[in-house]
Amino acid sequence: MIKKTYLKRTEFKKEDISVSGETVKFIALGGLEEIGRNMMLFEYGDEIIIIDAGLQFPEETTPGIDFIIPNVSYLEKNKKKIKALIITHGHYDHIGAIPYIIEKIGNPTIYATSITKEIIARRQEEFPNAPKLDFEIIKAGESRQLSKNFTVRFFGVTHNIPEGVGMVLETPIGKIVHPGEFKFDYDIDGNAKDLDIWENLGKQKIHTLLLDSTGAEEPGFSVSERIVERELEKLFKKAEGRIIVGTFASLLDRIAEIIKIADRLGKKVAVSGSSMKTNIQIARNLGYMKVEKDAIVPLEEIGKYRDDKILILCTGAQGEPNAQMMKIANGEHRYIQIKKGDTVVLSSSVIPGNERSVQILKDDLSRQGALIYHYKMVDIHSSGHAPQEELKSVMKMVKPNFFIPIHGYYFMRWRNASLAQEALKLKPEETPIVDNGQVLLLSKNSVKISEETVPTYYVMVDGLGVGDVGEVVLRDRRVLAQEGMVVIIATIDRRTGQFLKNPDIISRGFIYLKENKEFVEELRKKIKQIIARIPRAQQIESDYLKSLMRDQVGEFLYRKTKRRPMVLPVIIEV
Ligand SMILES: [Zn+2]
Ligand SMILES: [Zn+2]
Repeated sequence: MIKKTYLKRTEFKKEDISVSGETVKFIALGGLEEIGRNMMLFEYGDEIIIIDAGLQFPEETTPGIDFIIPNVSYLEKNKKKIKALIITHGHYDHIGAIPYIIEKIGNPTIYATSITKEIIARRQEEFPNAPKLDFEIIKAGESRQLSKNFTVRFFGVTHNIPEGVGMVLETPIGKIVHPGEFKFDYDIDGNAKDLDIWENLGKQKIHTLLLDSTGAEEPGFSVSERIVERELEKLFKKAEGRIIVGTFASLLDRIAEIIKIADRLGKKVAVSGSSMKTNIQIARNLGYMKVEKDAIVPLEEIGKYRDDKILILCTGAQGEPNAQMMKIANGEHRYIQIKKGDTVVLSSSVIPGNERSVQILKDDLSRQGALIYHYKMVDIHSSGHAPQEELKSVMKMVKPNFFIPIHGYYFMRWRNASLAQEALKLKPEETPIVDNGQVLLLSKNSVKISEETVPTYYVMVDGLGVGDVGEVVLRDRRVLAQEGMVVIIATIDRRTGQFLKNPDIISRGFIYLKENKEFVEELRKKIKQIIARIPRAQQIESDYLKSLMRDQVGEFLYRKTKRRPMVLPVIIEV
């Protein structure tokens, strides 16, 4: 079993956290103990600037949850102070919580580039009751005065979605750099491009640099997107039949490139998956995908073309159960059945935890005769997150006085902090590793983790409800998943307290009752004993009886089987 406190409760230690003099507070509400749920804030006096509002996908410890969003109770309490919500880029781990939290925090102005704005606005449409959003469109290179004490200047970064931005936040204690998520972009000769952005930052006396830690465990440099493109093109040329490419709908840069290559090779592109279709449409509308009108054909028309003239783009390279690639592999797709000669390209890395699903996916596809290529066989994927050497180069170019590793699990952030200590000769106290909810106080000459914390315990979204999946529900789901359940239906005469018939016993995921008749008989006897011991001639409190049954039957089952299924007594009084 995975040992992790799935509900972390950090409470206010003081009613309010006072900021005295020239101190800027940095607090992350999410993103520092996980991948996802990115949301952080800077506070000075009565002004708060928020960066990102993302969601986190569920883990094994949170079964049945759609996703987790940041806890914004601190911001709700202080919503009058909020001056801006800045969004670095359009990935869901940075924008996904907006529809759920924006009203709670007073619907502040959202600063975003045009494509990011478009993705946020599209998603907001799925929430008819959510308020209209107030956007301020920004561009790389522009500045904004956000409030009396905060000014921001944006710069462009390469990630794997267009128009990602980083920023320099000018505060009363100095300049803070948050580059969003990025990696280096390389030219055909393998030279990193646009390094002057970082070098310019290095001339500005940067107080603190925050850097994404997602790639901090990866040695070396990123695989150049140019190499990815070259390898994809080679594969596409080699393919004799149809090509089916699975990737993330959010990898817009890659998708654009694939469509371009297909077009160049005289292949028509068909898109399967609504998220991917929407994203492509947004990118085309905003001029990010300059392809001929007829480069993309409707999926239902692929039969009209020769197999070697067709490339299908779809979601689900991670083996996600409801995604298009899985439907194809299962033979459940309306328009696409795998046939011999198809080439399947999985152009994304495998997210930890998805290894098994991806394995099954590859097995199923190859059994049906498809040729499969994935990123481990050829360089057909590059992560969007700078690995070690790129992180170190940025540190050295920006030359900050302090360094805060952000985004990612503790070990990734610890690794990033050690890189900074190495590259910048900083002391550990100058590279604080803060957890979600901890308050970091930044003053002109020092940074210090404060004693105070703000709440960051999980807020879960399940179906359409927000925050309604509490500890109890999660515990129940885990018990059901691991131990199964036993339902006992007892029909009792209200007046005498006597059984009217043998109790019914139903079990799921526990033991197979039909093959354990003796055991069932023993269990029945046990149930009767429990009832028999209750003093007669008095009304049976059904709640009392239920809890008695739950405890004693639970105890009995554990003694016999060493398992603790969920016991659900149902008492019918007639
Ligand atoms: Zn991202
Ligand atoms: Zn991210």
